[in-house]
Amino acid sequence: MEKATGFMKALKCRECGREYPLTANHVCEFDFGPLEVVYDYDRIKIALTREVIQSRPKSMWRYRELLPIAHEPTVGREVGFTPLIKADRLARRFGIRELWIKNDTVNYPTLSFKDRVVSVALSRARELGFTTVACASTGNLANSVAANAAAAGLKAYVFIPSDLEQGKIVNSLVYGATVVAIKGHYDEVNRLCAEIAGKYQWAFVNVNMRPYYAEGSKSMGFEILEQSGWKIPKHTVVPMASGSLLTKIHKSYQEAAKLGLVSEAKYHIHGAQPTGCSPISVAQKAGLDFFKPVKPNTIAKSLAIGTPADGFYALKVMKETNGHADDVSDDLIRQGIKDLAECEGIFCETAGGVTVAVAKKLIASGRIPTNDSAVLCITGNGLKTLDAVVGHVGETREIRPSLREFEGLLEAENRSVNA
Ligand SMILES: *Cc1c(COP(=O)(O)O)cnc(C)c1O
Ligand SMILES: [Zn+2]
Repeated sequence: MEKATGFMKALKCRECGREYPLTANHVCEFDFGPLEVVYDYDRIKIALTREVIQSRPKSMWRYRELLPIAHEPTVGREVGFTPLIKADRLARRFGIRELWIKNDTVNYPTLSFKDRVVSVALSRARELGFTTVACASTGNLANSVAANAAAAGLKAYVFIPSDLEQGKIVNSLVYGATVVAIKGHYDEVNRLCAEIAGKYQWAFVNVNMRPYYAEGSKSMGFEILEQSGWKIPKHTVVPMASGSLLTKIHKSYQEAAKLGLVSEAKYHIHGAQPTGCSPISVAQKAGLDFFKPVKPNTIAKSLAIGTPADGFYALKVMKETNGHADDVSDDLIRQGIKDLAECEGIFCETAGGVTVAVAKKLIASGRIPTNDSAVLCITGNGLKTLDAVVGHVGETREIRPSLREFEGLLEAENRSVNA
């Protein structure tokens, strides 16, 4: 009897098109091209209508036919369907007609968009019979693998660069995962993990499970479409580390149009990076199809990938959609975090600061016209990267518990406002 594969057909090489069985495998043995999941869209079109989607619980799994699992999800059933916020005050500050915030700072359970990719990778890993899971991470992935593995009763090894923020490290350790801190940057962590994955029978979510893992990012795009009233937004600004999320937002818009869930429309996907690690945006701005690897040096550690695995494909998506990339300094990243917090009451991590600050730049330069509407993908929570903003967000006013002292403080404040 044939093994059930749900709505998946095969893994397929993005370069030569050769097909492979749906196992834990990520690379073509002929040309080392990345493998991608292929679906049976004819069957999906019959099964998945707007009405079916809207009748389901509010999680990322309401689009399950377009996610790479054979059976019902067993890990992270509550992940996703985060709010899409109309950001009027931020729009006014940036001088644009309409801004929307896709707010994955409140994703479940570990407060970043990585819960989307991990719930898919671990559900699929279980289907394939794995009992140990692992990842190479810039922080949020480690948090999510550790938490979701704990809840699923899977053993977890997470590998991180040793210089990560305390918040990211504690958020992995607390779940009981084995946290391996490598003295090196992410690209070295990743290289080691590729070696380990070749030797041990573990499901490495972003190595041998990468084709399944990466598809989880599409759910952010499907939610944006549904929450926009089944319309493709004119502009979407996406942070880039490996570049995977950006390519999958694009894929989600394409799939939804192909299935008739939204009508075809012209749209632009823009990419955001920190200047201290901007191989993709530097290449995009120079009009190149290929990036040059860099050594990261930025406060946006979650985006610090100097050799982005999907950089080439991210450049292609921006070219195809007439999108732009840009990058911003550490100071502008902090300002971006403050802009979003002060205008909308949302505290994002450094990657969110990158996205907000790049959006501001693209609006100011006219690349996002001020009479248009844009969605910003805010991917992680500020409580995990406090180190980056401590000392930059003002200071507490300390007084003794006395009304007189408080009134003195108010007077001083009024004097400085009127001065
Ligand atoms: C991982 C991550 C991203 C982007 O990841 P890609 O590798 O480009 O898919 C964006 N924001 C945050 C907070 C992340 O943790
Ligand atoms: Zn190939």
